Amino acid sequence: MAHADTTELRERLIEAARRLNTTGLTRNNSGNLSHRVTTGFLVTPSGMPYDTLVAADVVHVDLAGKASGRRLPSSEWRFHRDVFVARPEVDVVLHAHAPFATSIACHGRGIPAFHYMVAVAGGADIRCAPYATFGTEELSAHAVAALAGRRACLLANHGMIALGADFASAFKLAIEVETLAEMYWRALQLGEPPLLDAAEMARVLDKFVTYGRQPEE
Ligand SMILES: [Zn+2]
Repeated sequence: MAHADTTELRERLIEAARRLNTTGLTRNNSGNLSHRVTTGFLVTPSGMPYDTLVAADVVHVDLAGKASGRRLPSSEWRFHRDVFVARPEVDVVLHAHAPFATSIACHGRGIPAFHYMVAVAGGADIRCAPYATFGTEELSAHAVAALAGRRACLLANHGMIALGADFASAFKLAIEVETLAEMYWRALQLGEPPLLDAAEMARVLDKFVTYGRQPEE
């Protein structure tokens, strides 16, 4: 669905950005959030506490990367832009330094099929993009590659990204990925857990296509 750049959408973006802190996905605003609009995307500004934001602080960036507004866009605007270009089905990009996901990513590891719910991100694992300096095109290219066929990835020595069709689905996924990362971290305390095989993950992915869909009235 195409969204115009409105005050209402900017305010919803701010409200959602505040939820990054209250859900525990970030502390101290160490994340950023964007929403696609017909003319590009809206993104949280660089280095401002979410509590103080008003609609005019939200930055509009077009798909060529040109920012407009009174604030500078998040330093990570590049991967937001590149995801919106690469993934037409995505309207929200959520980035957070969520503690458990980031702990796993600091080992350069993704989340393998230790639990069937890994399929929630769209595949048999959740990949970890190789490290590159924050804000760079190199990081953005690694992130887009790690997200191929997936709705979430980890970023080595950095954090995680979750994608959605709206704020609610992006948050739901980000919280699920953080929960899986916590469970994987705990499971690793007893050694490497056994993994589900490719055939089982294919069955799970197949079931996920119809799971939770109630019959039409
Ligand atoms: Zn970051």
